[in-house]
Amino acid sequence: MSSTDFAQRLVQALGPDTVATAEQDIAPWLSDWRGLYNGRAQAVVRPRRTEEVATCLALCQQAGVPVVPRGGNTGLCGGATPDQGAANVVLSLDRMNAVRGIDTIANTLVAEAGCILGNLRRAAQDAGRLLPLSLAAEDSSQIGGNVATNAGGVNVVRYGMARELVLGLEAVLPTGEVFHGLRTLRKDNTGYDLKQLLIGSEGTLGVITAVALRLFPRADVRSVVLAAVESPAQALRLFELLYAKCGARLQAFEYFSGDCLDLVLTHAEGVQEPFGQRYPAYVLVELADSADDAALNALLESVIGQALEDELCLDAVVSASLAQLQGLWKLREEISEAQRADGPHLKHDVSLPIERIPDFMASAQARLQAQFSGIRPFIFGHFGDGNLHYNLSRPAGAPRDWAATQGAAITDAVLDEVNRYGGSISAEHGIGQLKRDHFLHSKDPLELRLMREIKRLVDPAGIMNPGKLL
Ligand SMILES: Cc1cc2nc3c(=O)[nH]c(=O)nc-3n(C[C@H](O)[C@H](O)[C@H](O)COP(=O)(O)OP(=O)(O)OC[C@H]3O[C@@H](n4cnc5c(N)ncnc54)[C@H](O)[C@@H]3O)c2cc1C
Repeated sequence: MSSTDFAQRLVQALGPDTVATAEQDIAPWLSDWRGLYNGRAQAVVRPRRTEEVATCLALCQQAGVPVVPRGGNTGLCGGATPDQGAANVVLSLDRMNAVRGIDTIANTLVAEAGCILGNLRRAAQDAGRLLPLSLAAEDSSQIGGNVATNAGGVNVVRYGMARELVLGLEAVLPTGEVFHGLRTLRKDNTGYDLKQLLIGSEGTLGVITAVALRLFPRADVRSVVLAAVESPAQALRLFELLYAKCGARLQAFEYFSGDCLDLVLTHAEGVQEPFGQRYPAYVLVELADSADDAALNALLESVIGQALEDELCLDAVVSASLAQLQGLWKLREEISEAQRADGPHLKHDVSLPIERIPDFMASAQARLQAQFSGIRPFIFGHFGDGNLHYNLSRPAGAPRDWAATQGAAITDAVLDEVNRYGGSISAEHGIGQLKRDHFLHSKDPLELRLMREIKRLVDPAGIMNPGKLL
């Protein structure tokens, strides 16, 4: 069947309002957030109901047509971008954006996959509860995309990744069958937990259409400290102390190097130098609780006092107002944008056993400087989760195409170090197209074989998001 015939079949089954086939209507759906990937498609389908997703997938499976699920398109690995095949169908969930229910006794939220994460967080807040999944792209990314990528973000140290927040989900399999797993049970030990296969599967096993999430008590009282540290090893000891003393109140433990702060102070607006002098590195710690502002501040101040005494940090500033708290967070949040303004760079989103971070950083730094003299590391991230954004900028004076010519060799070196230290080449962002080769080379052969067999079982025609992940 020609592409035109198949697209017409989709239009007949779902209606012209749901299926776009004109070139100018499809064009906005063919590239990724960073502009690194561009692809082709014969149609963009924007269903409003699970049954329409099922109809679309059943037709695609019959015709062997590849389907690329698309959420908010904030993924950083090209996972939601079609490849160059002209037959692709992009399936966007953006119209499936209803909150199906919030239960403040069971503390659950059930929502369709196309809901914007930030909207769900606000809906939970309005109901007097907290949906803790939080990331810089939360006002664009969709909950279906968050679950499909097993997103992390700034609160993982306390609440875990998306996987730990999902109680149940509904999904359409490539056959068009609906997986009815939208349960809100806390306890359900009845065999294999199949929803876990869909979480983090990056659209390669099916289309998530709705999710049931855990909610928590609101933790509106917040206290933040920015501590200066001399090394990752000192940051690690500070983390150990804070975890022991603050327990579940420890909501974020972020790290950034002094070079990152320099970048932010150079490129971002409305930011202030936090100390009278510069230090080698910083950690930003947030505590949060349901009540009692004064007690939380007192706890943080006393723990930081002890840290200074025990030489677990060099200097520290505790937020005294909401404006100051936001100002300290801004220093961390602006790093990505500041680095973008600084010029082309290589991004690596890696994780390590937390206690091995200092050794990894020393080893990777020595290797990179030996092999790629003058390379400029900008390292920051969710240190409390063992997650580093290990970003590298070109040496001063290097040509602008530095990343294109040297990038592959540099990334090989970084990821090789990550593997040597028992880490993961993708902490949060997934594999997509970007990391597929490294993933296929570094993953344990048995794990890869099992993944391929699961993929074949669930998607025998191989229509779901081909060229991504596996
Ligand atoms: C500024 C910025 C900051 C970020 N910070 C973080 C962070 O702190 N932590 C973090 O984890 N990520 C972060 N990200 C990455 C990104 O926001 C997450 O990966 C997010 O979960 C992607 O959601 P999305 O809706 O945009 O998905 P998309 O980009 O649209 O898709 C991502 C993948 O999921 C698949 N997919 C999407 N929807 C569905 C569905 N309904 N069913 C099946 N498959 C689907 C796609 O096919 C694709 O493979 C950041 C991104 C940006 C731009």
